[in-house]
Amino acid sequence: MEEPLFPPPLFHPPLHRQRHQFVIDFVKSNKPQKVLDLGCCECSLLKRLKFHREVQLLVGLDIDGTKVKKKMYELAPLSTDYLQPSYDQLRVELYEGSVTERDARLRGFDLVTSIELIEHLTLADVERFSEVVFGYMTPAAAIVSTPNCEYNPLLPGLRGFRHSDHKFEWSRAEFKSWALKVCSEFGYEVEFTGVGQPASGYQESVGFCSQIGVFRRLERGDDSNVLGGHGAEEVYSYTLLYSINYPSLRDNNILQRVLVSEVLSGAEKLKSRWMEKKSGEGNTSSATFETEEEEEEHTGGCTGGASEDQEEEDEGVCWTDFQSRQDSCTSLRCVSVPLDVLWSCCPRVNTLSGSLGNLRRLLMDEPDVELSQDGNAVLVNCLEQDLEEEEAEDDLEDSGYEPASRPHSAAAEQEEDWEASV
Ligand code: SAM
Repeated sequence: MEEPLFPPPLFHPPLHRQRHQFVIDFVKSNKPQKVLDLGCCECSLLKRLKFHREVQLLVGLDIDGTKVKKKMYELAPLSTDYLQPSYDQLRVELYEGSVTERDARLRGFDLVTSIELIEHLTLADVERFSEVVFGYMTPAAAIVSTPNCEYNPLLPGLRGFRHSDHKFEWSRAEFKSWALKVCSEFGYEVEFTGVGQPASGYQESVGFCSQIGVFRRLERGDDSNVLGGHGAEEVYSYTLLYSINYPSLRDNNILQRVLVSEVLSGAEKLKSRWMEKKSGEGNTSSATFETEEEEEEHTGGCTGGASEDQEEEDEGVCWTDFQSRQDSCTSLRCVSVPLDVLWSCCPRVNTLSGSLGNLRRLLMDEPDVELSQDGNAVLVNCLEQDLEEEEAEDDLEDSGYEPASRPHSAAAEQEEDWEASV
């Protein structure tokens, strides 16, 4: 082939990003739930794939555990994943092992990717790779990329292979011949494409810089092409390096924790709004919100900025006395926020619980939430400051409030008791 007459093309974005983007686009349009990346190296593709929440199981395999360990903790959930878990589920597993060995944990994936890996294997190992991946793992789809040696003359200063560890670099015809053999042996079909376009005029003669085969398993209705299928012994040859389950609202413990925190903050906000309104300042709170976001932030997702709406929503919020479960001798003054008010005012409480009945059931044995005796209202304890504000109001006496039952008096009494006993 003649030397190119112009400077070689630079890839924007870089070629490795284009290869990963190819996989990401495939994932976006095909929505696989279980994805396995072979030769995952420092997990850079996996790190991008974890943001595609249709993926529920993300697995990486590499023969070089040291490379995997270098960055594997970057696959851990972020603090926001714990603070605001979603309903999506994600489990990540990373293994050390060779693609030439079988391992039962890596069977039955929706998508297997092998990005710039096969050229690092000897031709004998490529045969084993074909058997293990297409004959044993039998993914529904596989994306295999490898250098196209026909492009090499366009790479400036390149002598020999693109990397010292490459055992071969195939032309398009060689890649096609291998891929078609795989298809006929193991029941797949393949489409050829690539990333890294040469300058116009060179496309036909050299093709893409990285050639890609997209394989899809043919549904034959039997497993005659599946190696180690029914009745075969389970093999585990890989070493698990890392595994993590992302927090999900499908986990009942997490759902309960998030619901309790939404209930407590929703009830607290409804209480404050009701108390402000009672003290004649209610309208100012809705008047000071300049944007919807500001109001959302202030109300914690509890709806109703207009004062008429608030009046309706606050219906049923009232003072009550309550006997603490922990300390039956102490009666505290609280604000009672009916569960139906919470349920209808706080969209997140509504979504997380699903129904008012569920909400009651989920809160029933929850130690962090005080419910009224009939279980129909959340009791929000009043801080000393709330009560001092309330005390300043002339309508305090009308509410039937008894100073002797104030929490601060009870707390003060308790403190005196402790002082006396030490
Ligand atoms: N796939 C990665 C990406 O897209 O960023 C880069 C692949 S890197 C060029 C090749 C990787 O294949 C290396 O991390 C190497 O350790 C791994 N590898 C080589 N032989 C392997 C084998 N037999 N089984 C599993 N991984 C292997």
